[in-house]
Amino acid sequence: MFILAEEAASLLDLRLSAAQIRQFHQLSELLLDWNQRMNLTGIQDPAAIAVKHYLDSLTLAKVVPCFAGRRLIDVGTGAGFPGLALAIVFPRLRVTLLDATAKKLRFIDQAGQALGLENIRTLHARAEDAGRHPKHRGAYDIATARAVARMPILMEYTLPLVKLGGQVIAMQGSRAYEETRRAAKAIARLGGELLAIEEIRLPTLDHPRYLVVIDKVRRTPKGYPRSPGRSASQPIQ
Ligand code: SAH
Repeated sequence: MFILAEEAASLLDLRLSAAQIRQFHQLSELLLDWNQRMNLTGIQDPAAIAVKHYLDSLTLAKVVPCFAGRRLIDVGTGAGFPGLALAIVFPRLRVTLLDATAKKLRFIDQAGQALGLENIRTLHARAEDAGRHPKHRGAYDIATARAVARMPILMEYTLPLVKLGGQVIAMQGSRAYEETRRAAKAIARLGGELLAIEEIRLPTLDHPRYLVVIDKVRRTPKGYPRSPGRSASQPIQ
């Protein structure tokens, strides 16, 4: 966990408290324990978890100047990345962790209780349904996602959830530019506008990571997101 504290400071200018480092330790223990019974993560080594899950999640701080008081939804959060890691470091950020798989959310609820996190809640839903629900549509300052779907599909999962003036931050790998180009139509149709693509280099990883930042500049038209499955089977393009 040393590398996490060091790199959070040097790369992201974040000073983790001793209590937060303890919470990350505890989270790794829980993750590896639950992982024996269900498939939560392919990464088994604590040092790799610190970089590939925790530090990678925290890179959102590079493009978000202030998290305090804001509402973030992590779409397809799985075992809680990036949302759970952000909730640990930013106690005044309100984090909603959405996934279609209930058992992954059970892990997050348990971990949240064990760590004493008061700023998270889980939402068991498909992103397309949440995006049409009055309680969630246009309700978030930030929607983010990692490793959930191709960009055109991901736009239909995330942009409807964001309020005007808010942002989608899509965490991408080496194909970020190509993916973003392919998603241009979906971004425009759903009320977004590409703001920036930020390259991030993490220690021990050979390939850069990218944060694709999209501003919500217009309301998402009625009719989007389309009914579950259609965003994925017939992506906007
Ligand atoms: N973001 C996590 C997990 C990635 S795995 C990480 O990077 O570690 C992708 C997750 O997205 C799975 O848990 C899957 O259940 C969820 N998912 C995929 N499509 C979804 C949809 N349409 N609505 C809600 N969750 C979805």
